[in-house]
Amino acid sequence: MPGKNLSREEARERAGIIGVERYRVHLDVTSAPDPEKSTFLSTTEIAFRSSAPGGATFLDLLAPSVRSVTLNGRELDPAQVFDGTRVRLDGLAERNELTVVADCAYSRTGEGLHRFVDPVDGETYLYTHYEPADARRVFANFEQPDLKARYVFTVTAPAAWDVYNNAVHTAVEADGSARTWTFAETQPISTYLTAVVAGPYHVVRDHYSRELPDGTVLEIPLAATCRRSLAPYFDADEILTVTKQGLDFFHDEFDYPYPFGKYDQCFVPEYNIGAMENPGCVTFREEFVFRSKVTDAAYEGRANVILHEMAHMWFGDLVTMKWWDDLWLKESFADFMGSFSQIEATRYRSAWITFANQRKAWAYRQDQFPTTHPITADIRDLEDAKLNFDGITYAKGASVLKQLVAYVGRDAFFEGARRYFKKHAFGNTVLGDLLDVLEETSGRDLKTWAAAWLQTSGVNSLTPQLLTDGEGRITELAILQDGGEPRPHRVAIGLYDRTADGALVRSDRIELDVTGARTVVAEAAGRPRPALVLVNDDDLTYCKIRFDEVSLATLREGLGDITDPLARALAWSAVWNLTRDALMPARDYIGLVLRFAGQESDIGVLQSLHRQAKGALDVYAAPEWRAEGGRLLARGAVTELRAAAPGSDHQLAWARFLAQTAQGAEQLQLLRGLLEGTARIDGLDIDQELRWSLWLALAAAGDASGEELAAELERDNTASGRRQQTQCLAALPTPGAKAAAWSSVVDSDELPNALVEAQIAGFAQPDQRELTAGYAAPYFAMLEDIWAQRSIEIAMRIVGGFFPRFQTTPETLAATDAWLTAHEGAAPALRRLVLECRDDLARALAAQAADR
Ligand SMILES: [Zn+2]
Repeated sequence: MPGKNLSREEARERAGIIGVERYRVHLDVTSAPDPEKSTFLSTTEIAFRSSAPGGATFLDLLAPSVRSVTLNGRELDPAQVFDGTRVRLDGLAERNELTVVADCAYSRTGEGLHRFVDPVDGETYLYTHYEPADARRVFANFEQPDLKARYVFTVTAPAAWDVYNNAVHTAVEADGSARTWTFAETQPISTYLTAVVAGPYHVVRDHYSRELPDGTVLEIPLAATCRRSLAPYFDADEILTVTKQGLDFFHDEFDYPYPFGKYDQCFVPEYNIGAMENPGCVTFREEFVFRSKVTDAAYEGRANVILHEMAHMWFGDLVTMKWWDDLWLKESFADFMGSFSQIEATRYRSAWITFANQRKAWAYRQDQFPTTHPITADIRDLEDAKLNFDGITYAKGASVLKQLVAYVGRDAFFEGARRYFKKHAFGNTVLGDLLDVLEETSGRDLKTWAAAWLQTSGVNSLTPQLLTDGEGRITELAILQDGGEPRPHRVAIGLYDRTADGALVRSDRIELDVTGARTVVAEAAGRPRPALVLVNDDDLTYCKIRFDEVSLATLREGLGDITDPLARALAWSAVWNLTRDALMPARDYIGLVLRFAGQESDIGVLQSLHRQAKGALDVYAAPEWRAEGGRLLARGAVTELRAAAPGSDHQLAWARFLAQTAQGAEQLQLLRGLLEGTARIDGLDIDQELRWSLWLALAAAGDASGEELAAELERDNTASGRRQQTQCLAALPTPGAKAAAWSSVVDSDELPNALVEAQIAGFAQPDQRELTAGYAAPYFAMLEDIWAQRSIEIAMRIVGGFFPRFQTTPETLAATDAWLTAHEGAAPALRRLVLECRDDLARALAAQAADR
């Protein structure tokens, strides 16, 4: 297996002959504040056993250079044993002592040890991020999840810094301008879960304690950190409140004391993902520290992530998947537990609405790609693994667990989890280990269930079929199941009718098992025909909801009249799926949003309606109707913005939506007036984030100058300001702006991850189709080089971000197909990304045809 990859087969063989006892890792990062220094010194001592004395194996290490390798007192020549990605070890003894001294590189891509300099005060910040396999960028190791070991970290850093690790520090020794931090030995954990965070971080400390069933008291020191310049915005109280609520909940339900001592939560800059569950040292993207007003949906989203990561302390950190095939064993559970615990333990009671409407949309999209896969996946190597942090592993897996709880009951589910933790603590597992305990506790055969739900791919559609008599009574209600192999679904069928004042309310609920292609709902016979039949009411299962004709007509007239917010969210989700499937014209979907979004009480749902309506306009609407549709959306945004309660979340959401849809002199004038203070909307605070949204709209429309954007940066010369100004400049509708943005990403690898993202986001503007049409050919021409030369994180962004997705023409589809045909042998992970872009494009063309 060449280069940076590692195959499942190699990992299996290595685990067959190696057992790791302990790592001692020393990192010297005193060079970090000096921008001229690109590396830090990394020393690793590993004590490991081999069951094949005399045999050979290898270590993983991605480092610019290795100074020395010493195996059992024997000096190995780095030039002979190190090839840039691996260190070859032969002549193993039964017990081995290995020392590797290497110069490792500071990262600018968020992979490994990331270095960031704050433009506000010039301070340098470091943090690590490894999953799935980037610990090897920081220290030499056996990089695979089932070779768990204990770690002792020591870190030498500038004297003014603090350093955080999975364990508590036991000593800090000063030596001139540096201090060396020594940390306690960790529990046995996987390489990808180790962590170091270092810099002059602002910290808020707190404490959690709890009496355990045996009478002892569990003490967990808590800390929350962010960059100093973000400290004024850091609402640590709210973060720590959710943290304590989560610790209460998981101790109540899991009956296994938190095993990692203390609990730090570090909000770090230029983070590639939402957060990472490093035991005792969770890292979060710092955009969760809100600099300007955000809606309650953002607080809810952050709380969900806090709880998701905390659930991982048990599902993932205490018990870890053997290989990445079973990534779902931790991600599906954490995703499910995040929402479950949020509702039971915090003030965020609409988590299931968000889950049904937004999280599941991710799953439906991913599951209809030709590249979809079973929840338990076939992960051949690390490139496969990297792409599987996707809508199947997270959202579909979590949806299926929700279905499992409906199937076996809550008590059996949690009792199964409790046994799983006790039985496999600090170990590694596969699917069968989980099914075993759940079968014990539920008394049900779960092999068949798992075969149907975990080992197949695709989403079923459930459609109600009604027969009525002359008096409008139901003679038969059946549920049709299609879309791949039928599955066993535990579902609730909601029957809705109009009340005297016009509301749509549930008059009946029937819960049953839907099994084959057609299931008769016997209980419904003899009832009056309802105005609306909502299959999968209460969102128990994972399916696409379809409607009979009468129900669909009811929704077209009165979707917003459904009073229950979860049912309404499900209806919105269903009509969005119809639109994506070219079964409802995009202009009809946009019409529903224009008519009913103003009535939507749930702020998260409203924001997702905004995103979807804009998406429908940009790629699903017939091109000849686009201008008209755009005018309608923008006019709707102005009306709702002016009607929204002053200072409300809804007002802010409509203001942002206006920024995304504004067009024509009058509306652009309004945006400029809001920026300059000559126009006012009562209660709407034009704070810094909103200012940037308005500037982006003006820039994309060609109504902002480089000088104005420079002046705005002057006003907000922060990391966030730099990203947003970069995005605005890339959005300017000139050939020069497009060329500069493209070139900064494609022709150079100087930019850090955050600015790569900003350049791509600015470049790809839906209403600049003519300006960017010429980039389709260079896009396909560069793909293989980019994949070979860039880190996978950056390559994924470029491949997905620069795909000509707004060029929704048969020609773009043909060019994509031509590339796929000519590159059968390209890296499978690269092909997967292009295939997914192609599928989105084909879907857009079908939707446009339906919209004509
Ligand atoms: Zn996770």
